[in-house]
Amino acid sequence: MPGFEIFDESEKQQINEVMEKGFTFRYNFDGMRNDVWKARELESLICETLNVKHAHLVSSGTAALSTALAAAGIGAGDEVIVPPFTFVASVEAIVLAGAIPVFAEIDETLTLSPEGIEAVISPRTKAVNFVHMCGAMGKMDEVKAVCDKHGLVLMEDACQATGGTYKGQALGTLGQVGTFSFDSVKTISCGEGGAVLTNDESIYNHAHMYSDHGHDHIGSDRGAESHPIMGTNYRISEMNAAVGVAQWKKLDRILEIQRRNKKALKDALAQYPEVSFREIPDESGDNAGFLSFFLPDEERAKEVVSALAAEKVPAVFYWYANNWHYFKNWTHIQHMKGAAKLPIELVADRPDYTQVKTPKSDAIMSRTLSMLIQLSWTEEDIQQRIDAFANVFKK
Ligand SMILES: *Cc1c(COP(=O)(O)O)cnc(C)c1O
Repeated sequence: MPGFEIFDESEKQQINEVMEKGFTFRYNFDGMRNDVWKARELESLICETLNVKHAHLVSSGTAALSTALAAAGIGAGDEVIVPPFTFVASVEAIVLAGAIPVFAEIDETLTLSPEGIEAVISPRTKAVNFVHMCGAMGKMDEVKAVCDKHGLVLMEDACQATGGTYKGQALGTLGQVGTFSFDSVKTISCGEGGAVLTNDESIYNHAHMYSDHGHDHIGSDRGAESHPIMGTNYRISEMNAAVGVAQWKKLDRILEIQRRNKKALKDALAQYPEVSFREIPDESGDNAGFLSFFLPDEERAKEVVSALAAEKVPAVFYWYANNWHYFKNWTHIQHMKGAAKLPIELVADRPDYTQVKTPKSDAIMSRTLSMLIQLSWTEEDIQQRIDAFANVFKK
């Protein structure tokens, strides 16, 4: 998955252009920047490649989630449905928006299931934060149908799925609003960075205003701009955007390498009857950043994790026991521990998160392993993994 693996002269050249000709701030300073606009350039590259009307860059994927929630009108007291298998940011952003996360079940796509979503809808439900975990999508037609039927905003956390598609349409652009992360370990890296994607004019306007203290960005005099709303500072710097410009131009190459490397491992694993694979409703749209597979049960999954470690196969993730991607292990979230009193504490009938149960998700995650697919692998690196499989899996 990580774009940093193929950093080269092109990223350096882009940064140097900012330092030598341009300016570090993404807005205004027209007299100083010699027409160097890296954030704008990356935004238009994203729109062109993904066929989406608007992309707005921010300082991180987490900032993109907060911005997307605010821009889509989701705030105090609104319920937002989330999966228990995700990165904590998808939940934190909801809590810090003053909204209420509601956990729903996933299925073997490793993403929210349509029936899981439907089962937890209440009169307060406003949105679904659909997370395209590990580079691929879920049952998007059915998920969209549930959202439409109940008038919910479909927000896509596509932070791990840049470049993925569903039936030809980019992940992150299927719902009303989507988000990308360009942090240090993502498919495309800006060092730190993120993006909000939308085809909705009003969501876009709220997104760029919210992430820059409510500035309307009309005209070329920042001091004379009006502020229709309050906001914050989630701006990306021109240096970070510059890295992203170089990286974005490598997206096709990244996807091609990932898909080739993943296929080699998947073909090798497919011969072991005890292994089955994550369901991917549109295989051709998988960003292929991870290979996720199932063992028959939890006990065997744990055995295989240890056996692969003994064979020195790196970057094998058993999410069920890891404390940053699965709800079961997030005691700080179960106890809603913030730095200070949280808005959700004012909601008298809020869920008791220590009592949240997702047995279907537990049954799936307890036997799920994922391998990170890397860009820098040599033929020998791939063969070493395939040889290790032969020692670990049952024929
Ligand atoms: C990485 C990630 C984020 C947060 O992105 P940052 O840029 O690190 O803030 C959010 N959601 C998911 C699913 C992620 O993987």
